[in-house]
Amino acid sequence: MPLTPPRTTSPDPQDDRLRDLALARGGLDRVAHERTRPSVVEDLLADPSTRVVELRGERLRVGSGADGDDLALHLRAPVEADRAGLGLHLGRGPDGTAYLGVVSSTPAPEPVPKAGADEPGDAETWLTLRQAGEALGARDAGLFTTALALANWHATHRHCPRCGAETEPTQAGWVRRCVRDGSEHYPRTDPAVIMSVIDPHDRLLLGRGAHWPEGRFSVLAGFVEPGESFEAAVAREVAEEVGIHIDDARFLGNQPWPFPSSLMVGYAATTSESELRPDPAEIAEARWVTREEYRELLSSNEIRTPSGISIAKRIIEHWLGATVESVAGPSVVDR
Ligand SMILES: [Zn+2]
Repeated sequence: MPLTPPRTTSPDPQDDRLRDLALARGGLDRVAHERTRPSVVEDLLADPSTRVVELRGERLRVGSGADGDDLALHLRAPVEADRAGLGLHLGRGPDGTAYLGVVSSTPAPEPVPKAGADEPGDAETWLTLRQAGEALGARDAGLFTTALALANWHATHRHCPRCGAETEPTQAGWVRRCVRDGSEHYPRTDPAVIMSVIDPHDRLLLGRGAHWPEGRFSVLAGFVEPGESFEAAVAREVAEEVGIHIDDARFLGNQPWPFPSSLMVGYAATTSESELRPDPAEIAEARWVTREEYRELLSSNEIRTPSGISIAKRIIEHWLGATVESVAGPSVVDR
């Protein structure tokens, strides 16, 4: 089976950063200047050319895509019921079309299995970002990622951190304001670093989290702490989790990860040490693998890889020099 090279190619051979990360796409103009107009959501709901992205729980409605995309978001004109939901002005496309997220309180219907689809409309179903993210085109992946990140923030920031009173959404869903003291609160993004660690024998470090099932291995990751740079966080996490000191950490790329509110910042670290001392509170197993060993472990189903939309999978493929699917087929990728 021919191996497919990972998607990192740049005209500059020195530049091997990760490109086209599934959730780091998008490209809408966020038109932040429009958010301050108090009637902006109302105006967008009254305009039939507005495209509504309705979020039910963590799901959006998707259907078959066009222009090479497997899936596309179901975008529609506003309806009366949208006024009961939380409106999020997500931005405008190149042609000026406005995209309005609506966080609905209606639960999503159970997904319709694609294989049995023979009725008209059965091809459309409600999927999570983990299920749909990789198959959507750039604009739709960006819409889904942004709408989910904003909705997650609204759901957990209903009270003022200063005085405890309720907050209410304002500025087209991009700010919450305290009803008592008027203080304004902005959406949160929590950075986390995620890194390959390569030893002097060009082996990759893989770890299995303390509560992960047998066979699920990934690269190490952890949240950035207050007062810490990304590079310092990479060094600390590797030292804490497996007792290894790194020599260098090089930026690879980053993508939002709205589960519920992270930004994953990817690095490639090198070390001159090989002896692993995993912290049992965080790591059930840690091991070094050569590329050949990794391919064999995948092919024999002894290990599985992180999900297709994750930067973890792309970091592993960056080291491997091939996509995981071209090595061992799609079944080794966790959902
Ligand atoms: Zn307050």
